[in-house]
Amino acid sequence: MSTIFTNISKIHGLMSPERNKFNLKFGQEMSQVDCLSDAYIKVENGRILEIGSGMPELKDEDQVIDLQGKEVLPGFVDSHTHLVFAAPRHEEFSLRIKGASYEEIAEAGGGILNSAAKLRLMSEDELFDHASERVKSMILHGTTCIEIKSGYGLSVDSELKMLRVIKRLKEAFPILIKATFLGAHAFPKEFKQQPDAYIDLILRDMLPAVIADDLADHIDVFCDRGFFTQEQTERILTQSQKYGLPSKIHGNELGLTGGVQVAVKMESWSVDHLEHCSEVEFELMRDSFSHEYGGTMPVALPGTSYFLGIPYAPTRKMIDFGLPVVLATDFNPGSSPIHSLQNIASLACTQMKMLPEEVFHAITCNAAHSLRLGNEVGSLGIGMRADFLVMKTRDSIKTIPYFMGQNQVERVFIEGQEFFA
Ligand SMILES: [Zn+2]
Repeated sequence: MSTIFTNISKIHGLMSPERNKFNLKFGQEMSQVDCLSDAYIKVENGRILEIGSGMPELKDEDQVIDLQGKEVLPGFVDSHTHLVFAAPRHEEFSLRIKGASYEEIAEAGGGILNSAAKLRLMSEDELFDHASERVKSMILHGTTCIEIKSGYGLSVDSELKMLRVIKRLKEAFPILIKATFLGAHAFPKEFKQQPDAYIDLILRDMLPAVIADDLADHIDVFCDRGFFTQEQTERILTQSQKYGLPSKIHGNELGLTGGVQVAVKMESWSVDHLEHCSEVEFELMRDSFSHEYGGTMPVALPGTSYFLGIPYAPTRKMIDFGLPVVLATDFNPGSSPIHSLQNIASLACTQMKMLPEEVFHAITCNAAHSLRLGNEVGSLGIGMRADFLVMKTRDSIKTIPYFMGQNQVERVFIEGQEFFA
């Protein structure tokens, strides 16, 4: 039996036959949205079987859902979140308003270590319940594919606990969820004086356990000033490559600290943050797309820049340079408590001078390629997952960033089934 969604005024984000093999948009292409007017979508077994104009031929057994002249977009892809956490950190928020720096807060036991301390005390069930509420809300705001990182455990037991919570989320929700092992998020207090011993712990105990229980799809390292050095990052990734685990990097948030260099050298799928990024890094990323592994995607996280008052990643320059930019929420309790990609879209337009069309591709097909899911999600075409959004407004690509803080998504379909919280 097929389900046929009819009476769609416009589908945005169509998978066009001319697309490159990665099914993503580079530089100037990002401002060109592939659309189809007066359209229908035919879905079978959760996949798109047919997309066309007008009315399709109907069989008696087909189920028809009339979308009443609304617009349809592919579900959004959030390629960078830390949504499994024990508690918000709004006390730190007030301290920062009064002038305390991120470093001062960390000194006083705040920051990532604060989240780690609270997470270690919370049960797996409780963590799962909190995280489930966040995932539900994200889906209702249009996000239908989410990457989630560990990294608030920072001990063998707690990192595994976080990853098991992510595994349960994968089973509990119909959307695509991908897990990233981020044991190298920060150095725990007990290892402050002997950082390399913590790396030994990651490589000797954490990583093999993560692999044995099949708990991660990728690995990530916070490669930046005061966190993990280029050499330490390379050491970790050299080991994870032996297990065939792809990598993503937190890089260039605090300075030109070599994150892009390591990411490209180690064939990471993305390098995320990039608040500090020069033409040298642009060239490295651009050249990476001629390699077999499919290139290192630049992922900008404007929620963090907004919330911490640090510079925004120079995505305007990146796009003009020809790079395929991605935007993500970085949803986390310390530096970006923003879970809606619609709000990120607004920040990207107003603060980074990205066009609404460019933003749209940065949170759909480009984000999908940063997870190597460009043939599953991020655009609408034959054989893709039927994960799509029915929008409240006309010209929805433009109204998403325009109506800051208002949810523009009316209905969410995942594998062709409507999602209800
Ligand atoms: Zn992050």
